[in-house]
Amino acid sequence: MANRIYIVGMGPGREEMMTGEALEVLDQSDVIVGYTLYLRLLGGRFHGKELLSTPMRQEEARCRLCFEEAEKGKKVALVCSGDAGIYGMASLMYEIGKAYPKTELHVIAGITAASSGAAVLGAPLNHDFCVISLSDLLTPWERIEKRLHAAAEGDFVIVLYNPSSHKRKDYLMRACDILLRSIEGERVCGYVENIGRDGTKAVTCTLKELRGREVNMFTTVFIGSSGTEIINGKLITKRGYQIERNIDICGDNGRKKIIGIPCGG
Ligand code: SAH
Repeated sequence: MANRIYIVGMGPGREEMMTGEALEVLDQSDVIVGYTLYLRLLGGRFHGKELLSTPMRQEEARCRLCFEEAEKGKKVALVCSGDAGIYGMASLMYEIGKAYPKTELHVIAGITAASSGAAVLGAPLNHDFCVISLSDLLTPWERIEKRLHAAAEGDFVIVLYNPSSHKRKDYLMRACDILLRSIEGERVCGYVENIGRDGTKAVTCTLKELRGREVNMFTTVFIGSSGTEIINGKLITKRGYQIERNIDICGDNGRKKIIGIPCGG
């Protein structure tokens, strides 16, 4: 049988936020490879496994390590935060995998920060949205600017990943300045820090206010579209339903339909 490596999205942090499939794959693996922080987040459940880590920025070394372990006949899982195919290691694994034709790769979906963060804030992604990373480590800043501008022009809800780092403290401010060319300062926004981890913090504010906020690298930022508003403190993007009031759902002319009766009921 071919060697196999599972590339596993572990969600934002807590075990309850991992999918059943991800947990099953990790339970069955011999070796779990990942960035140190993510291995620590996995907690006690996988202590019996061989846990191998490489430092941040050593992504290529981490991928090669997986292939080398798989070639020894071990069942290998590579863990990434959120979803491994969203600013994660999945594509790099396929690129490096060209040199290891005997090894099969399988990607296991995880809950990405856009999705878990949206749930904390309410329902900001309930219409067209786009995701942009502010990290210019692998993407030229001019391209990021172009995408920010186009997203604002397209009236998308915009999710920003990598809004800040030690070296890029003013990137969120620079991004807001670009957005403010086409979006009004009062546009509703939100951000969530440490989703699914200790110290989760959710904030709503206007785009003008967001410009002056300092966020850390474990933060996901949401900029509303023209259809987004704050309802009971939550950030909500409407889908466009015309809500009728005073509908009698139970009366003779009502719309309640019984489509099934529970057993014994
Ligand atoms: N693969 C990951 C994204 C990695 S890029 C995913 O699908 O979620 C790293 C960025 O993701 C961070 O800078 C931050 O913007 C976001 N992020 C990842 N985990 C997060 C968390 N627990 N809380 C808040 N933001 C998070």
